[in-house]
Amino acid sequence: KHDGRGRFQLFAPFMDETVKLRGQIEDELRHALSDGQGLSVHYQPEVDAQSGKVIGLEALVRWNHPVRGPLAPGEFIPIAEESGLIVPLGEWVLAQACRMAVRLPDLFVAVNVSAVQLRTGNFVERVVGIVTAAGCRPGLIELEITESVLLDEESAAAATLHRLRDLGFRVALDDFGTGYSSLSYLRQFKVDKIKIDRSFINNLGSDAEAAAIVTSVVTLGHAMGLTVTAEGVENREQMDRLSDAGCNELQGYFFTRALPEDAVVAFIAKQTNF
Ligand code: C2E
Ligand code: CA
Ligand code: CA
Ligand code: CA
Repeated sequence: KHDGRGRFQLFAPFMDETVKLRGQIEDELRHALSDGQGLSVHYQPEVDAQSGKVIGLEALVRWNHPVRGPLAPGEFIPIAEESGLIVPLGEWVLAQACRMAVRLPDLFVAVNVSAVQLRTGNFVERVVGIVTAAGCRPGLIELEITESVLLDEESAAAATLHRLRDLGFRVALDDFGTGYSSLSYLRQFKVDKIKIDRSFINNLGSDAEAAAIVTSVVTLGHAMGLTVTAEGVENREQMDRLSDAGCNELQGYFFTRALPEDAVVAFIAKQTNF
């Protein structure tokens, strides 16, 4: 017989292990941040849909754990968010991104900003400090946020984003279409760019509805004066459909995965036209 208690007892030790593992990863991440060991930033190009030229990069954090090996961001970003370590981690990524923007001044560099970071009282001052110290123009830095950021603490997050835009930073709405109330947010929060979530791009070939959604988002984005980017472009068919739909920028494995700093510089130097 299966009773609820039996299952709970089976489940409890696993919960303990999970909690312990999270605590360990948190400690190890704190160490990595203090000595810089094992952390790096990889960069994935964003390509102009018409010319095929690289026009920007997205900074994506990587952690090569000394014992566990490479960990995906999904395995440690949530722990970093819960523990508050996302604040120093995000600042470290931003500092790296600024160095890259100075190294490649014709390109923008996008960084992902967590809701936890936006909620800290001095986010704007910290960002300005880091960018200034790096000798980087704010216009080269794009801050990617998700709709959930705006859900949490609507007015405070909006005010923070507006201040950053006034200072010249660009703001992009990431994973567009996966949250709710996307349309009302677009009116309420002024952004520069929307990035259509890759779930819509995946099904572009087979699914007429996905194609209709992409076309509508492009039309809407352009009507509001926004740049529209598609992420998760994996093949030529998707690329062709997206550029036909009027998408401005494309990003995905079809062009390249995120690459270490020197490899992405070499990739850009070759300037493959797609
Ligand atoms: P995201 O911001 O949506 O980043 C795009 C993710 O999609 C990246 O995964 C990228 O490698 C992957 N990707 C790019 N092109 C393709 C494609 O053609 N097909 C497929 N299947 N995937 C593609 P990654 O690097 O594992 O990052 C996962 C998530 O972790 C990011 O999603 C972002 O939410 C978060 N993240 C990464 N770096 C940072 C960071 O520095 N700070 C914060 N707060 N979050 C970060
Ligand atoms: Ca992103
Ligand atoms: Ca995204
Ligand atoms: Ca995503």
